[in-house]
Amino acid sequence: MKMNSLKTDVLVIGAGPAGSVAAAMLHKKGLKVKVVEKQQFPRFVIGESLLPRCMDAFEEADLLDAIKACGFQEKFGAKFMKDDAICDFNFSQGFTPGYSWTWQVTRADFDKALTDSLQQRGIEIDFQTGVEKIEFAEDGYSKTTVVDKGGNSSVITARYIIDASGYGRVIPRMFDLDKPSGLDPRKAVFVHIQDNRRLHFEEPSRILIIVYAPGTWVWVIPFSNGTTSLGFVGSMDYFEKLDGDINQQFKTLVEGNKYLRERFQDQELVFEPRKLEAWSIKTKKFHGNGFVLAGNATEFLDPVFSSGVMFAAVSGHLAANLVVKKLQGAEVDWETEYTDVMQQGVDTFRSYVNGWYDGTLEKIFFHSQPNEEIKKKICSVLAGYVWDMNNPFVQNHSISLRNVSKFIDFQIKMAELSR
Ligand code: FAD
Repeated sequence: MKMNSLKTDVLVIGAGPAGSVAAAMLHKKGLKVKVVEKQQFPRFVIGESLLPRCMDAFEEADLLDAIKACGFQEKFGAKFMKDDAICDFNFSQGFTPGYSWTWQVTRADFDKALTDSLQQRGIEIDFQTGVEKIEFAEDGYSKTTVVDKGGNSSVITARYIIDASGYGRVIPRMFDLDKPSGLDPRKAVFVHIQDNRRLHFEEPSRILIIVYAPGTWVWVIPFSNGTTSLGFVGSMDYFEKLDGDINQQFKTLVEGNKYLRERFQDQELVFEPRKLEAWSIKTKKFHGNGFVLAGNATEFLDPVFSSGVMFAAVSGHLAANLVVKKLQGAEVDWETEYTDVMQQGVDTFRSYVNGWYDGTLEKIFFHSQPNEEIKKKICSVLAGYVWDMNNPFVQNHSISLRNVSKFIDFQIKMAELSR
């Protein structure tokens, strides 16, 4: 049987935010780009609360207008709640200059808007087409065999590949690049749900994170269509101890918290509860001869600070710019110009994720007398500004959090002694 074959400058695998931003940047800089996407869009994917730091990447990729036209819920901050204690971050009160707002999006519509915009500018996307095999030649040129929904195979010859296949992790899996993350495996059970009582509780323009039980938390992400994404995250053990099937477990979880009960009990579900588990993963290297990874295909930590789409957009943007530079004949030091940059951002968030699960951040967030200067700096990290080396809570992320935590312990001790 004769196989179809075609040539392109860059093959992008996956049309999520990482792939879309990368493809838009490559096209803008005059390269020929081909996108292959395994699924038909619109398709559901989790990752609905964005961070302001991703706005620059979408803007440079000329994707902001397409997103704006969808009328998504604007997001101005993040609110954390533990019983009656509240810690409210307003992104406009951050330390680092830049966008101070973003959106909360239904990803099916969001990702479709991005790919529609790519297609309108003439970028070819083959949906329902998955990658089967990749062979790299010594000069970095690759031959990728893809198969469409009808079972037809084609070979795509490319000068470079950007693997933005998200949880699909095409190149990491094919070339044995997966590495354990070091974070404990966790599980999420989530729904989209009617949120008719929302205005009684909250303005919808922020994500709400509720501390539910030690190590277990809840996301509440309102959308502009009156529904809300509601998800519970905890250890695998936590969910195993709950009785019944996933529907029963979800009901029990909603009933187990006063706030959730009053806001969501008996509200209609848009879809039945779904689950995801053990998502944290690292990768041995982010690049190789003829390829670079972007988005979740590099590393994914944890959903708690909504950093996934931001990393996808920023890495897709940077990867594309470096591929352009390389294909124009300039030298690229992929370790310093790409891996170190992305790793610096991921490592900053890793300290915050660890701090969330070991109780350090709870101590800081719910302290009765918050230090406004510290809050401002942490606010910028939570907005995604994890490359601002002027911010000590980025520059020395782990030590800064530990020091604040120790200082709070000291204050508590002194207060006890003076009683
Ligand atoms: P994706 O969006 O996953 O896109 C990758 C695309 O590649 C997919 O469309 C897929 O079909 C395609 N693909 C896969 N395999 C192949 C193949 N073989 N051939 C061709 N195409 C292929 N992030 C946030 O920013 N905010 C949140 O609130 C948030 N909540 C989360 C909650 C949970 C429980 C989890 C687990 C994650 C959450 N995330 C969140 C993370 C977010 O889901 C991801 O970080 C984000 O979607 C990554 O974007 P991407 O473009 O890298 O990959």
